[in-house]
Amino acid sequence: MSRRFNHTLVAGSVLAIALLPAALGDFGVALANDVGISVLVVLGLVLLTGVGGATSFGQAAFVGIAAYASAWLTTVHGASPWLGLLFATTVTGGAALAIGMLTLRLGGHYLPLSTIAWGLAIAMLFGNIEALGRHTGLANIPALQLGPWSLLDARAIYYLIWTIVGLAFLFCHNLLGSRAGRAIRSLRGGSTLLASVGADAYRVRLSLFVTAALLAAVAGWLYAHKNRYISPSPFGLRASIEYLLMAICGGVGHLAGALLGPGLLLALKNLLQDALPMLSKSGERLETLAFGVVFIALLQRARGGAMGFVGRHLGRQATLTPAKPTTVSPLPRRRLPPPGAEVLRVQGVVKRFGGLVAVDGVSFSVAAGEIVGLIGPNGAGKSTLFNLLTGTLPLSAGAVSFCGRDIGGLSARTIASLGMARSFQHVKLRPNMSLIDNVALGAHLRSGCGMLRGGLRLDRREERQIAAEALRQLERIGLAERAFELAGSLPLGTQRVLEVGRALAADPVLLVLDEPAAGLRKLEKRALAELLRRLREEGVTILIVEHDMDFVMKLVDRLVVMNFGAKLLEGTPAAVRADPRVQDAYLGSVA
Ligand code: ADP
Ligand code: MG
Repeated sequence: MSRRFNHTLVAGSVLAIALLPAALGDFGVALANDVGISVLVVLGLVLLTGVGGATSFGQAAFVGIAAYASAWLTTVHGASPWLGLLFATTVTGGAALAIGMLTLRLGGHYLPLSTIAWGLAIAMLFGNIEALGRHTGLANIPALQLGPWSLLDARAIYYLIWTIVGLAFLFCHNLLGSRAGRAIRSLRGGSTLLASVGADAYRVRLSLFVTAALLAAVAGWLYAHKNRYISPSPFGLRASIEYLLMAICGGVGHLAGALLGPGLLLALKNLLQDALPMLSKSGERLETLAFGVVFIALLQRARGGAMGFVGRHLGRQATLTPAKPTTVSPLPRRRLPPPGAEVLRVQGVVKRFGGLVAVDGVSFSVAAGEIVGLIGPNGAGKSTLFNLLTGTLPLSAGAVSFCGRDIGGLSARTIASLGMARSFQHVKLRPNMSLIDNVALGAHLRSGCGMLRGGLRLDRREERQIAAEALRQLERIGLAERAFELAGSLPLGTQRVLEVGRALAADPVLLVLDEPAAGLRKLEKRALAELLRRLREEGVTILIVEHDMDFVMKLVDRLVVMNFGAKLLEGTPAAVRADPRVQDAYLGSVA
């Protein structure tokens, strides 16, 4: 979809929403209000579940916490609903932070299961607290007041609800296009990549979780002061599942899906509520059944939801375009160590996997401005050694120092922050992100705008710097013309080169490259070797694993040869080539 098309679509939607009350009856406006409130919750779910990959069956509980918090403060203590909003978001945000810290480290299916548990527990709590009216709930909640206007009337609150929806949508859209958004979009597919660029996947997920809960909190606050009466039932597991269903119905991968899903589902619900009692007396149970059928049908046939359908019929989804890299001051550079200074020292490093000793007492060192090659047959332990150096795996024994600092036992994130950047043998790109976004991830530590500044667009200057840096690195690796294509569209070999670009965006002291030339054609290999030589001239130190002997022998200053986890020997390419032990090792590995 082109930019102009997007703008037209946005302008059209805003106009339609503004004019809708004039066309609708009272019932329609009331329904539109409910849709708007659900959209807020579903926006959070699209971010958390659709983009971030963490499924929550507990969003309705956050809606409930906020609704009860504001209702309690305004009815029992007579405070203004606006103070109620502050209180509701604070309490809900605090609850989300606590729950998130307790559960977000859970892996696999345990996280969604835990959301069911706390979702149920919180909903149950509402029905059992005296001050919250137990199962009768709280009544006579004051209506919202906006200056001289009372928003008692459904048509009046409609504009407040949909203005908030518009602002929330804008915030989420900005957020996804920001530095924090790149980290959020990288959450799916494991935390190793994020750690390698110095980002903490757990913290990203935690702030995302709190953001989604805050969106639910605003929804709960609106709900309480619109209905002016609350009871525990709309905040239970069933409601949470309905929110999830709305997200899936609209298309969980698109923010716009959060606008479509609630409308579709609430309209369907109303239709069923009208039609089912005519068919049978047990209408409510039939409704549950019908929803179940819709759920299964969606998962079977249309996982992309309504937005998937729209996307297929209107052309492919626009990739998020980063800020224009106009003339900005470049990102600050690191001071590189003087040529010849020791950059890396590896001493007696060991890695055991159960009984298998994958790395067995390896020692060597690398000086600034050197290219050192690490070679050896398959399974020799080269990638494992790289994982130890970069902190991706913990050492079993031995010591590693980097620029004079002991880094054994430090996290991958900390080691990245000291100036070690890497690529992976099994590429860890985000295929659904553009090339420029993938490379920009590498500059994560050279910038600092968080979610709030990203969502409020207060990050433009920094984003322009990041975009300029990412483009510069893309030019260096010869992929600048494809900057806005999706990384997944590149051939595997080129994806490895893109990983080199991402590592370069970190402005590294030491580049650690695991088979970057695998799968490249001859000319591409030559270009890569050229680039690595140029980097050496600029003072970057490089440690590289490569199987192509011709490539590696011409490139490196020194070689370390590994076999069966241990260092076999170390020397210049000529010396290594002449050594009979090396030939034995390779021939032995073929047999
Ligand atoms: P290379 O990169 O030299 O081909 P690797 O470092 O990938 O070798 O593997 C060295 C040895 O360690 C192999 O025998 C491999 O099966 C084993 N290995 C690597 N990673 C793990 C792991 N996470 N768990 C168990 N064994 C592993
Ligand atoms: Mg390997």
